[in-house]
Formats: sequence, structure tokens, C-alpha cells
Amino acid sequence: VRATRGGEEVRGYVPSMGQIFMRRFQLVTQFRQSLEDGQVSVHYQPKVSLPGRQVQGVEALVRWQHPEFGKLDPDEFVPAVEAAGLIGALTEFVLEQSLRRVRKWLDEGLRISAAVNLSVRNLADADFPAKVVAALNRFDVPAKLLTFELTESGVMADPQRALPILRELHELGIVLAVDDFGTGYSSLAYLRQLPVDQVKIDKSFVLGMGTDLGDLAVVRSIVELGHSLGLTVVAEGVEEDVARDQLEAMGCDVAQGYLISRPLSEERLEAWLQARTTRSPGRQAETVLTL
Ligand code: C2E
Ligand code: MG
Ligand code: MG
Ligand code: MG
Repeated sequence: VRATRGGEEVRGYVPSMGQIFMRRFQLVTQFRQSLEDGQVSVHYQPKVSLPGRQVQGVEALVRWQHPEFGKLDPDEFVPAVEAAGLIGALTEFVLEQSLRRVRKWLDEGLRISAAVNLSVRNLADADFPAKVVAALNRFDVPAKLLTFELTESGVMADPQRALPILRELHELGIVLAVDDFGTGYSSLAYLRQLPVDQVKIDKSFVLGMGTDLGDLAVVRSIVELGHSLGLTVVAEGVEEDVARDQLEAMGCDVAQGYLISRPLSEERLEAWLQARTTRSPGRQAETVLTL
């Protein structure tokens, strides 16, 4: 199987079930070592406030540069890593990298928060909040500068187990966001019971809102619903000026998407931020974005 995989693959080649299974098997057995070997890294995508367009935070998005399969998409390996019971190691890695960044920015006078995606399995680990506290202490980062993003379906899978852990994280002052909002159950009554601070409108609606009135209506109602519940509303998948302007007019609080920036490697993010930071003596540095 190995010899015909990866770069040698011909276009239009359709892998068999056995090959898909083999690849998945390789991914999960190699994952731990790949963390140590530096094949796994974290990219960061900036989020800007509307209408001020200040860089308010970044979302941490994991990447795997696999020696045989090339650049892997998290949609391919995160579910496999989750199913194999290895998500704890992945989350810990992403959390550490992110907090190290936030610490570095604080040392430079920048207040930028980092958002880490959680898996439902993280919320099944009763020790998870203690691990997070230890990491915050290690990097001396205030809990306010950490956001966790969770999908509704993730919380819905086992609310009895997930809720106490979410409450604990929330009480620590960590910001909690519901990711991909609008794609799952999206029960309003349910959202009200969750200890969350933010909703992130799923990118499918944001991408479609320019051409589809239905998508536009969904986006508008999530902004209204979110605000009426006292939540910050974030839009992901902002690719066009028009979408940004419409979101701004609706009162959406934060925008994230290719229009602002693609997810960037650590080095590229530093250069991106450098180019947008203004410093006035005696004041906190500000990152002001001119799009
Ligand atoms: P997500 O958390 O909803 O992240 C947003 C995804 O949308 C990212 O894909 C991002 O690159 C993409 N995106 C951002 N702006 C735009 C845009 O303007 N247009 C379009 N078309 N796409 C945009 P990515 O990096 O491939 O990640 C996919 C998913 O994998 C994430 O969705 C998240 O659910 C999961 N994931 C990524 N990193 C982690 C991680 O460290 N832990 C866990 N548990 N899941 C992760
Ligand atoms: Mg996310
Ligand atoms: Mg999303
Ligand atoms: Mg997603």
C-alpha cells in the first residue's frame, strides 16, 4: 500500500476502503511521535473587531506536515486522533503553543487572545480544567486571554458530563464560544443554558449570505439572538468586503476569514502583526488593521 501512496499518487486515483483504513491506522499510530518530531504545528488566524478592525484574537488551527502523505487537513486527522483516544495530547500541544504566543505578545505590550478548539472528548476528562489552570500558570497568562471553541453537537453529545466541566472553565474566567453555530441543533432554549460568552456563525452561512437570502436571514437572526442573550457574535468565513460591510451594519462584533487573513504559521503571523502595530509612548500597543 505504502509504495503507491502520497506524492506518487496519480490524479483521479480512488483509494480503496482498505487503503483508507490503512492510512487512518498509520495516522493514529504515528501521531504521538509526530508531535515530538515537530511535524505537527499550530497556525493562527486573526480575528478583528467590527467596526474598529483591531486584532482582538487569533484562532489556533492545527496542521500536520506528514513525511509520506504531505500536508494534512485537520478535518482528516483530528477525527481519527479523537477516535483513537489521543485528543488529550493534541489539545495540550495546541494549548501550550498558543499560551506561549500570548505570553510573548504580552511581553511586547500586545493583548491578543488565543482561541483553542476543543473536542467533546476533552469535556469527558474531569481533570481537564486542572490541566488548563496549570498551563495558564506556567505561562502566566490571564484566563481572559484564552477562549475555548466547542461545537453544539459536541456539548449535546453528553451534556451531563460536559456541563460541569464547562461551568468550571467558565468560572475560571476562560471565554467559551459555540463554534459552527447554526449547523447543529441550535436550540435557543439550550443555548441559554450553556455557560457561553460567544457564538461563532458557521462559515457556510457567511459565505452564502451575498447570494442567498436564506443564508442572509440566518446570519441576521443569529446576530440578533446572540445579542439578546448578551453574547459576543463572531462571523467566520468572511471572504469579501461586501460580507464584512453587511456584518458590520448588522452589528456583528468580530470578523474572521480570508479577507482579513488566512491561517498563518507562527513566523508569518509575527510579520503580519508587526506590519499592523502602532505604538504610542506610554500606551498599550494597538494593532489597527487597514483593509
Ligand atoms: P473551525 O474551528 O470551524 O475553524 C474554521 C475553519 O475555517 C478553519 O479550517 C479555517 O482555515 C477555515 N476558514 C477560515 N476563514 C475562512 C474563509 O474565509 N473561507 C473559508 N472557506 N474557510 C475559512 P481548518 O484549519 O481546515 O480547520 C477545520 C476544522 O478542524 C476546524 O473548524 C476545527 O473544527 C478543527 N480543528 C482545527 N484545529 C483543531 C484543534 O487544534 N483541535 C481540535 N479539536 N479541532 C481542530
Ligand atoms: Mg473553531
Ligand atoms: Mg467553524
Ligand atoms: Mg468546523
